[in-house]
Amino acid sequence: MNNVYQNDVVIAGAGPTGLMLACELRLAGIEVVLLDALTARTGQSRAGGINARTMEILDQRGLMERVLPHGYVFRGRGPGHFAGLPIEFRDLATRYPTGLVITQADIETQLDRYATELGAPVQWDSPVADLEQDSDGVEIRVGGAHGRRIRAAYLVGCDGGRSTVRKLAGIEFAGTDATMVGTIADAELADPPPGWILTERRGPGDFSVLPLQPGWFRLMVNRHDRVIDHAAQPSFEDFRASFREVAGTDYGMHSPRWVSQFGDAARLAERYRSNRVLLAGDAAHIHFPAGGQGLNTGVQDAANLGWKLAAVLHGGAPEALLDTYESERRPVAARVLQNTRAQTALMRPGPHTEALRDTLAGLFDIDEVRNRLGGMLFALDVRYDVGDGHPLSGYRVPDVDLTVPAGGTRVHELLRGGRPVLLSLNGTRPRIGDWQGRIDVVEARCDASRWSVPGLGDIPAPSAVLVRPDGHVAWAADGPCDTGLLEALSAWVGPSTAAHRARQ
Ligand SMILES: Cc1cc2nc3c(=O)[nH]c(=O)nc-3n(C[C@H](O)[C@H](O)[C@H](O)COP(=O)(O)OP(=O)(O)OC[C@H]3O[C@@H](n4cnc5c(N)ncnc54)[C@H](O)[C@@H]3O)c2cc1C
Repeated sequence: MNNVYQNDVVIAGAGPTGLMLACELRLAGIEVVLLDALTARTGQSRAGGINARTMEILDQRGLMERVLPHGYVFRGRGPGHFAGLPIEFRDLATRYPTGLVITQADIETQLDRYATELGAPVQWDSPVADLEQDSDGVEIRVGGAHGRRIRAAYLVGCDGGRSTVRKLAGIEFAGTDATMVGTIADAELADPPPGWILTERRGPGDFSVLPLQPGWFRLMVNRHDRVIDHAAQPSFEDFRASFREVAGTDYGMHSPRWVSQFGDAARLAERYRSNRVLLAGDAAHIHFPAGGQGLNTGVQDAANLGWKLAAVLHGGAPEALLDTYESERRPVAARVLQNTRAQTALMRPGPHTEALRDTLAGLFDIDEVRNRLGGMLFALDVRYDVGDGHPLSGYRVPDVDLTVPAGGTRVHELLRGGRPVLLSLNGTRPRIGDWQGRIDVVEARCDASRWSVPGLGDIPAPSAVLVRPDGHVAWAADGPCDTGLLEALSAWVGPSTAAHRARQ
């Protein structure tokens, strides 16, 4: 094979993870080919919402304006829960404490549009069928009607739980098997219940009735007396019968637009990277959809990986930067698997589970317990090991109000360009060596004397912060100190401009 790349990055799979990654890469000027095995989008609703951290990530790129009109925010006692036990997360320090009810289909449509605008339209009917790696790149055989070979510097498998890319790369997907089955339908109801039903436990399982869109309800029934059979796709009549058996009524359900089933198998890729092949989203982790964390974790994977690939491909950053993708994101997915396993265990029928649920429900009145769970379920407390000693380093930067010469702004708004941002607050001017032009330096006034950070608590406002493109803090300082900043720039942006030029 020769060393000339036809492409920088090929992405297999145009679900939410692949789409978000394509947008991130295009924003950084990377050439992207986005392939999907389907012949067109199915329009299946699938996931029913996005959480606080995903909303923040979309907001960091100015995408919330596109997404918000297609969803709605639960008012009052929100949909927050752990294993169906309601929890109010109103105290969480985020602009989006309640999450957004929106179908995965709508999220995909918006990201698809944005990816196309940025120059990465989906190439449909293009399943990755085989791959071969060498030291410079990956050669990919694409099947489908337009079979072809493509070469790229990197291939990212965002091709879902049954990922072909993961199998071709020989990456194990170990975990626990399913112990139950959930079935789901989006349908209209002739006789809906008053309000909505988060979870009601009856006999062998539980059921839910949630408003999804005007006139449409999301209906779910979980059964612990049977285990998912992937070979048997349930019909609407199967769903109705199972729901009625548990709920004692079917609320006059009719006109389904989607029926599906899911289990609680929980598996995690043993590696996220095999040389020039990486995995993201469901291709790297699957679990029970408790608390709706799957799509969110995938979008957050993409936000972590995109800028790193761009820094390695165009910024002179060492390949080792890509290893931080696995060391940062795999533990996050492992924690999601654990909390969904815990939730499934708490959903099992029987008096012992009932006693455990009652005990936990009492603990949810404690602020600290609620905030700890909220930080975890909404991925707001994620901290990466960035090797800097400041308490804020590694956490996601809070969206604090700032004043810049042009007027009012806020931290997340400053991340729209997808570039690293050095916030120089209240007159501190840290020295940035010869990294000028490669990061955005923003001098701002910050009136808040304390910053509130899920997972960390309230801390005195720092004097300067280096924020990575994914919104995580790479370095921070108090007072007029800039010790460690050049090391952080070198680690997360790439070697100094002089060192980079000397190497070329
Ligand atoms: C009932 C249910 C409810 C859920 N609710 C929520 C929720 O509320 N919130 C939440 O965050 N998550 C939820 N999830 C999980 C969520 O749907 C998934 O985590 C999400 O779809 C993962 O996105 P992805 O892009 O990684 O993979 P996918 O959405 O599976 O996309 C993978 C894409 O890859 C394509 N593909 C497959 N093979 C190939 C190949 N060889 N080559 C090229 N392309 C290929 C597929 O066609 C597909 O388009 C729910 C899941 C279920 C089942």
